[in-house]
Amino acid sequence: CGIFAYLNYNVARERRYILEVLFNGLRRLEYRGYDSSGVAIDSDPAPLKGGSADVVLDEDAATSRPPYNSPPPLMFRQAGKIESLVGSVYTEVDAMDLNLEESFFVHAGIAHTRWATHGVPAPRNSHPQTSGEYNEFLVVHNGIITNYEVLKETLIRHGFIFESDTDTEVIPKLAKFVFDKAHDGDGDQMVTFSQVVIEVIRQLEGAYALIFKSPHYPNELIACKRGSTLLLGDVNEDAKNYTPFHDATSLAENRKPKELFFSSDLCAIVEHTKKYLAIEDDEVVHIKDGSVSILKFDYGKEKPASVQRALSF
Ligand code: GLU
Repeated sequence: CGIFAYLNYNVARERRYILEVLFNGLRRLEYRGYDSSGVAIDSDPAPLKGGSADVVLDEDAATSRPPYNSPPPLMFRQAGKIESLVGSVYTEVDAMDLNLEESFFVHAGIAHTRWATHGVPAPRNSHPQTSGEYNEFLVVHNGIITNYEVLKETLIRHGFIFESDTDTEVIPKLAKFVFDKAHDGDGDQMVTFSQVVIEVIRQLEGAYALIFKSPHYPNELIACKRGSTLLLGDVNEDAKNYTPFHDATSLAENRKPKELFFSSDLCAIVEHTKKYLAIEDDEVVHIKDGSVSILKFDYGKEKPASVQRALSF
């Protein structure tokens, strides 16, 4: 079981390259054992700076909540060998007429090898697990959520329909629940991705390493963990001969080319960078606009008291 993620920011990467980075990450994690695997990528290159409503999926979404900033991510899942996932992804990408040479200047991909604890190995039990339609929230998870049954019952009472037998599925559905609740009413109080995730993990018991991806927060990723290991790798931009999309002389700090990785194991990061950070329990790592911020989450308080950790690789 393992987690891998790859985010490129202000550096052009083709769809095929992004997929291969994700697949290679999974291949490196193979030795840990697994019975299924999956990846999620974006379907369309998003603007480097999100914000305006480029895509509105339906009328209801437009009126009842903040508009989507990007189309739903594509999700591919398979039971069995990683190479069977790889084969099926290329077949599906071909069938969807997606161009493998298309470049993304900013993209956040997530990947997972699963060792089933709850639910047989099957595509619907593989990760990413999803909040449902439009893949509004996608989660890859290592570990076990021990209180998933009570969370699942509550979510079912709120109208959620579960598609898998995993403990994990409560996590993306909780994220959607929190997100929708925050946007009830006048719908103007946009919550940040880390606020959503903090509300979610407050409800979780057990062990986990998690990565969240959402079309509500295009080009952002959130990672957090309790018990399980999770590392963040950062490519030193000086070490690479990048040609940024934006004019280098006018680059603000957060427009510098960046490539960031999450992995459950160093062996999947070292081929990209030697600069890495071990995420600590109860930290929430938020990647946005190519920069990383880390909140330390305090479960003891009525309201989460979060302090920022200085980034030192
Ligand atoms: N408990 C989760 C599941 O069965 C995650 C297993 C894992 O760590 O791969 O889907």
